[in-house]
Amino acid sequence: MIECMQHNQKIIPEPKIIPDLEIIPIPAFEDNYIWLMHNGKHAIVVDPGDAAPVFNALQRANLSLSVILITHHHPDHIDGVAALLEKYPHAKIYAPKLEQYAFEHTPVGEPDVIYVQEFDLNFTVLDVSGHTIGHIAYYAEQADSNHLLFSGDVIFGAGCGRVPEGSYAPAYQSLQKLAALPKKTKVYCTHEYTLTNIQFALTLEPNNQALVERLSQTQKLRDLGRPSLPTTIAFELATNPYLRCNSHEIQTTLRAKNLDEFKIFFIIRKLKNNY
Ligand SMILES: [Zn+2]
Repeated sequence: MIECMQHNQKIIPEPKIIPDLEIIPIPAFEDNYIWLMHNGKHAIVVDPGDAAPVFNALQRANLSLSVILITHHHPDHIDGVAALLEKYPHAKIYAPKLEQYAFEHTPVGEPDVIYVQEFDLNFTVLDVSGHTIGHIAYYAEQADSNHLLFSGDVIFGAGCGRVPEGSYAPAYQSLQKLAALPKKTKVYCTHEYTLTNIQFALTLEPNNQALVERLSQTQKLRDLGRPSLPTTIAFELATNPYLRCNSHEIQTTLRAKNLDEFKIFFIIRKLKNNY
């Protein structure tokens, strides 16, 4: 049963193209992005770990903050919430139902659907446990197939999040779930780790031409100070080693021809921890 929550209405509109919809990364800390989605008037922010850069971005564009989406409980994803709420007390906050938060919020988990009236847009909540036990992602379909995924620290450009709470099997399942989304889905990850991830991925799969090309593309973007994100599901399927555990080249590099794909994922993640 799909739940739909916003202003007590149960409305599930068809996907549509929202005119003037813009999604911009607000850089924070060393390498975080706080994604800000707006339509020229209203804004949604995802994982505001710091309030100051979000205030600046909202004020510069004269936007009012309607919704805050939280993917997981790590401080670099939530520490700006309290200050933002002081300034925008009517903003609605959604956060994982399996985690604890000090601020007032609506707890959500799969298969909840959050309807955001200001954008006439539905976000489907996906459970993507692994990086944290309660981690969720927010997925919105659009009529032009450029669907949106705010995925926190589950998947990165050519990489994936650490599994500090030890849930490797759920982490693998979560990546499989994201990999099965429509290929044009744009993936808004929270960290700018792409370049290092590609360099690591090339040690496993040096002859993957898509990966070789991604290295030079990403290097150019970063040299210009531009983000390497968002990425897409298609791009990750072609270049992300954690989604490529069936690659012959990766299996040969790891001398792991007879292992199942989860074990290969586990080996890659462990190798990356020491890279
Ligand atoms: Zn995290």
